[in-house]
Amino acid sequence: METPKSEQHLLDPQDWPEFRATAHRMVDDMIDWIQTIREKPAWQKPPASVQQAINEPLPQTPKPLDQVYDDFLKLVAPYNKGNIHPRFWGWVEGSSVPAGVLAEFLASTLNPNLGIGDHSPIYVERRVIDWCKSMMGFSESASGLLVSGATTANLTGLAVARNHAHNQIRQKGLHSLDKPLTLYASVETHSCVQKSIELLGLGAESLRKIPVDENYRIRLPELRAAIREDRAKGFFPFCIVGNAGTVNTGSIDPMSELLAIAREEKLWFHIDGAFGAFAYLDPEYRERLYGMTQADSLAFDLHKWMYMPYEAACILIRDVTAHRNSFHITPSYLVNHESGIAAGPDPFNHYGISLSKGFTSLKIWMCLKTYGLQAFAETIRQNIAQARYLAQQIEREPLLELMTPVTLNVVCYRYHPKNYPADRLNDLNKNIVMALQDRGIAVPTSTILNGHYVIRAAITNHRSRWDDFDILVKESLKIGAEMAGKETR
Ligand SMILES: *Cc1c(COP(=O)(O)O)cnc(C)c1O
Repeated sequence: METPKSEQHLLDPQDWPEFRATAHRMVDDMIDWIQTIREKPAWQKPPASVQQAINEPLPQTPKPLDQVYDDFLKLVAPYNKGNIHPRFWGWVEGSSVPAGVLAEFLASTLNPNLGIGDHSPIYVERRVIDWCKSMMGFSESASGLLVSGATTANLTGLAVARNHAHNQIRQKGLHSLDKPLTLYASVETHSCVQKSIELLGLGAESLRKIPVDENYRIRLPELRAAIREDRAKGFFPFCIVGNAGTVNTGSIDPMSELLAIAREEKLWFHIDGAFGAFAYLDPEYRERLYGMTQADSLAFDLHKWMYMPYEAACILIRDVTAHRNSFHITPSYLVNHESGIAAGPDPFNHYGISLSKGFTSLKIWMCLKTYGLQAFAETIRQNIAQARYLAQQIEREPLLELMTPVTLNVVCYRYHPKNYPADRLNDLNKNIVMALQDRGIAVPTSTILNGHYVIRAAITNHRSRWDDFDILVKESLKIGAEMAGKETR
């Protein structure tokens, strides 16, 4: 048998000083990038030539790292999503705290897998989950897990709610139930809740979509009636989903009332607090969100209104046993030992679907330590104040129309010139949104409220200044006049 003559180490740098020089260049460039982000367009479409250049064939042979980095500078960075820009308020997207950027670098340098083991990253992650409970006013004895986004957090919470509804579900499946499960949420609930329910095998129809009042909050009499009716018809109601900040308008369901109904009806109380849960850090919202602190499960993002780099979200579950009973399974290769690396705390893989897990908590740990919670609370308060300011500026303009009351950080408005044909208002406002984006001025996005297309700004941005909102108002008017003029000519 021939013995191998040489070994190859192709994937670590051949020339460390050269690697270091490129790395230093990256750090300097990226700090400049963040520092000067305000001078760049809020968004720029990747030109066809760039899209073409990105579509190169699978590389088979090496190319120096600094040339690859140049490709990044040329092809990727200038045509970024834009959500780190101070005038990005599209969908609900976070703006990324610089200390978090560095933490991501440190986390991937250590590259621990947090699924199991005895190591500091696991203890950091556990502590960050404790801090999450504390930020949300949640019971210290609750359990929790960091996941990739509020979608996964909602799915995880609803999986526990479903499995808790009947102790045979995990073993025998939904077939073992003689009554079909149903759950309740407002029509304004995020689509990820429906997706979760579909994935959990309950079927979209099991999610009863309850109408909302004029402030886009779930209507309680209709909720009570739906539960009563379902029970009478032989369904098995098991859960109410409350919204702490709906995606369309930022509205907050009546939490204490929902909590009371859930307790009375013996239903699991789950909250989607993707971004709005963080309003709890503002004393003005404490009372309104009290019911949230008492929920059975609470899903929220840290990459939205805690401004963490993607991805970071959390699910908190009041009942540790219910949580663990939903996911715990221990094959022979994952058994905890008394000592060695397989000792350590009850592994995270007993609390969620993922086994391998990145070091999501390091950025949260470092940013909270670096800036302190109060800095985040202040910034969140400022975003709420900015939403109110924007609403005021809109109301001051006769050609702009505020389309919802501002309860949190979401502002919906439209351009509405007098005597403009009603059936063309939607197109007109869509054209305004596209022009604001295409010209790199600002990134609001849109939604439909009561059939009306509205321009929508969700303010989860630590870089926005007051005058950024003046620019949005001024440019909406300017583009509106231009577009309306073009149409009637
Ligand atoms: C963004 C959002 C979600 C989904 O969260 P991801 O982090 O994007 O998965 C769910 N609910 C609400 C209210 C949201 O705003």
